[in-house]
Amino acid sequence: MDKTSIINRDKNKYLHSLNEEQRQAVCSVDGPVLVLAGAGTGKTKVLVSRICHLLNNNHAKPWEILAVTFTNKASKEMNNRVSNLVGQAVEGIWLGTFHSIGVKILRSNAELIGLKNNFTIIDTDDQTRVLKQLIKSNNIDDKRWPARSLSYIINKWKDMGLLPDEVPPESISNFAQGKSIDLYKDYNSLLKVQNAADFGDLILHCISLFKNNPDVLRDYQKKFKYILVDEYQDTNQAQHKWLKFLAMGSKNVCCVGDDDQSIYGWRGAEVGNILSFERDFPGAKIIRLEKNYRSQPHILKAASELIKNNKGRLGKTLWTDQENGDPIIISSHLDGSEEARSVVENCEIISKNNNLNEIAILVRAGYQTREFEDRFLTVNIPYRVIGGPRFYERREIRDAIAYLRVISQPNDGIAFERIINVPKRGLGQTTIKSIYELSKKNNESLITSAQNILLTEMIRPQAKSSLGKLLENFNRWISLRDQTNVRELLEIVLDESGYTDMWQKDKSIEAPGRLDNLMELADTLENFENLTDFLDHVSLVMENEKNESSQMINIMTLHAAKGLEFDHIFLPGWEEGLFPNQRSLDENGTLALEEERRLGHVGITRARRTVRISFAHSRRSFGEWQNSIPSRFIDELPDENISFIEDNKNFDNNFFQDNDFNQDINFDFDQSYQSTKKIPHIMKNIFIGSKINHDKYGIGYVIKINYEKLDIIFEDHGKKTIISDYVEIIND
Ligand code: ATP
Ligand code: MG
Repeated sequence: MDKTSIINRDKNKYLHSLNEEQRQAVCSVDGPVLVLAGAGTGKTKVLVSRICHLLNNNHAKPWEILAVTFTNKASKEMNNRVSNLVGQAVEGIWLGTFHSIGVKILRSNAELIGLKNNFTIIDTDDQTRVLKQLIKSNNIDDKRWPARSLSYIINKWKDMGLLPDEVPPESISNFAQGKSIDLYKDYNSLLKVQNAADFGDLILHCISLFKNNPDVLRDYQKKFKYILVDEYQDTNQAQHKWLKFLAMGSKNVCCVGDDDQSIYGWRGAEVGNILSFERDFPGAKIIRLEKNYRSQPHILKAASELIKNNKGRLGKTLWTDQENGDPIIISSHLDGSEEARSVVENCEIISKNNNLNEIAILVRAGYQTREFEDRFLTVNIPYRVIGGPRFYERREIRDAIAYLRVISQPNDGIAFERIINVPKRGLGQTTIKSIYELSKKNNESLITSAQNILLTEMIRPQAKSSLGKLLENFNRWISLRDQTNVRELLEIVLDESGYTDMWQKDKSIEAPGRLDNLMELADTLENFENLTDFLDHVSLVMENEKNESSQMINIMTLHAAKGLEFDHIFLPGWEEGLFPNQRSLDENGTLALEEERRLGHVGITRARRTVRISFAHSRRSFGEWQNSIPSRFIDELPDENISFIEDNKNFDNNFFQDNDFNQDINFDFDQSYQSTKKIPHIMKNIFIGSKINHDKYGIGYVIKINYEKLDIIFEDHGKKTIISDYVEIIND
C-alpha cells in the first residue's frame, strides 16, 4: 500500500484512527472486498471511513455510492457518522436499508413492472387480510389452512427471490392440497390490481426489473461505482441476487459481516452468502480484523467461549488491550417481577453516574418488555422501546393512515377495506363480500367495484346510500389532496368521516389515549411535504421516534440490538424455554439452537463495560405460573468471567411463619452469596420455598440450598438436610 497517499494529513485524518487491517479495507477501493470479523472489531467503522475516503479522494460523487445497512436505525447512525466526517455531501449518498433502496428504485421504474409510481407498500397485517379473502374466495377452509401459514410460505419464497414459476417442486408445501402456487400467483395479481407491493416485492420486483430490462440494469450498474453492505451475514437470497445484479457492473463492492452474528435465519437470511463471497466475486480480497475495541476482557472472553459451542462457524480469535473490568454478573430471582424490580433498581444505581442512553435491556421475546416498562413507569425513569410497540401499528393510527392511503392511491383496496365500515356506517360483511366478488370478477380495484356496485341491485338500499356518501367524501378529499397540507387534510378527513367522533363517544379507558395518538400523528405530519413521502416513511420506519434526543434507557429485543453498543447491558430471562426459545427449537432443532446461541453472543458483545444476565425461578406465562430452569447458555460461560449472585431480597419471610410448624427453628434466609463458580446444579429446578416430597419424610419446604444439599422443613419431621437427588419437586 502506498503509505504517502494514505497519510495525506488533514484531508485523510480519519485514517489515523484505524489499525493497519482496517486501513487496508478502507483504502482497497477497487475490486471486491470482504471484511469478515467478529463483534466490535470496527467493521461498521470501516464502512463509514471508506465512504469518506471515496469522497475525499474523488473516487466517487455522493450519488455514485450505494451503502446498505440492516435497519433504519443503523442507516441513521451511519448517516450521522458520515456527515460528521464529510458534512453535507452525505445527503446525496444512496444510504439505507435494502427495502428503502428497493422502494427508491421501484418508484422510478414502477411502470416497467406493472405498477404505478404511487404504489402502496403493505405490511404483514394487510398481507394476511388479503390472503384470508383469497383463501375464502377459493372455497378453501381457512380454519384448516390459515392465512398466516400461507403468508409464511409466500414470504419465504419471496425471501428466496422466487416468482411463482420459479419455485422448485420440492419446495411446494401441501398447503390446501398443493394449491399454494396458484394462491401465490393470484395474490401477486391481486396486489398489482390494487397497485400495491409487499415487503418481499420491494426486492423481488427490482430483481424482475433488472432481469427483464438490461438497459435499466446497466444504468444502475454504471451509476453505482461503489457499493457497501453492512451486516452481510444476514442478507437473504433475494437480497443477495439483488446485490449481485448491481455489483456486477463496477465490481467495487465491499461487504462486512460476522458469521457468528447471523440471527435472521428464521427470516430467510443465508449465512452461506458470506461464505461464498469469493465464489460470487472472484478475486475478492478477504480482510480479517481481530482487535476488539468495544468490550472489556471479561465480556469478550465470555462471549467468545459461549459461541465456541457452535459447530457451524469459521472460528476466530478476538483480543483487546483494555483493562480487565468487571466479570459478568449472573443473578437469580424468584419470579419475573422480582427480576424486573432488580434490573430497574440496578439501572437506577448505574444512572447516578452514567448517561441513561448508555444503558440497554435486551430481551428475547417482545412481550418481555412490558414488565420492565411497567417498572420504569412506576419509578419514573424515562425509557424508550426500540422497534417495540410501534406507534404506527396502533389501531387508531392504522385506521387514520388507511384513509390517507386511499386518498393517495384510490386503488388501494386493502386500505379501503379496512375503513369502509370504520366508524360503523352499515357496510357489513355482506356488502364487503359483494364488492369483493365484483372486483374479482371484473379484475378491478375494490373502490372501482364499490362505485359500480351502486349501479346494481346487489346491495341493500341503506348500504347503497351509505356507501355512496363515503365515496363522495373520498372524491372530495382526493380533490383536496394537492392543495391542502397533509396535516390539515388529515384533520378534515378524521372529522368528516366521523372517526374522531367515534373515539370521543367511546367510553373505554383507552379512548382518550387514542385521541392523543391521533393528535400526535397530526403533529408528525407537519414534517412531510406530501402524502407519498409520509406514507413511505410510515411503511419503512414504523417507529415512534419521539423525544429521540433526550436521555432514556433503551429496551429492545436482541434482534433489534444488532450493530449497536452500550456501556451497560442487561440480559434478563435467560431460562430454558424462553432463551433458548422453545418454539424455535421445536421448529428447527440444532440449527435453531445455534442461532439462539449467536443471539446470546450478539447480546453480550453489545456491552462496553458491564453485563448482567438474570433468570427467574418461576414466571407467569399465559396466565399460569411455570417453574423454570436457567438457560444452558449460562452453564456455557467460563467460571472465571462470571460472578453469581442470588437476588431474592423481597422474598416473603411470612411464608414460613404462616405455616406453624417447627417454630423453634432458626430460619436462615440469607442466601446471597458471591461466587465465581457456576450456578449450583441444584439451583436449576429447586429454589427456596419449593415444595418437595421425600419417600420417607413426606412433604416439606426448602429453606436453604447449599449446592446439592438442601435444608428442608418437613411437615411431620421438622428440619433435615437432604441431598437433592432424593427429593421430588411438587408443582401445586
Ligand atoms: P458489530 O459486529 O457489533 O456490528 P463492528 O465490527 O461493526 O461491530 P464498530 O461498531 O464499527 O464494530 O466498532 C466498535 C467500536 O469500536 C466503536 O465504538 C468504534 O468506534 C470502535 N473502534 C473501531 N475501530 C477502532 C479503532 N481503530 N480505534 C479506536 N476505536 C475503534
Ligand atoms: Mg457493525
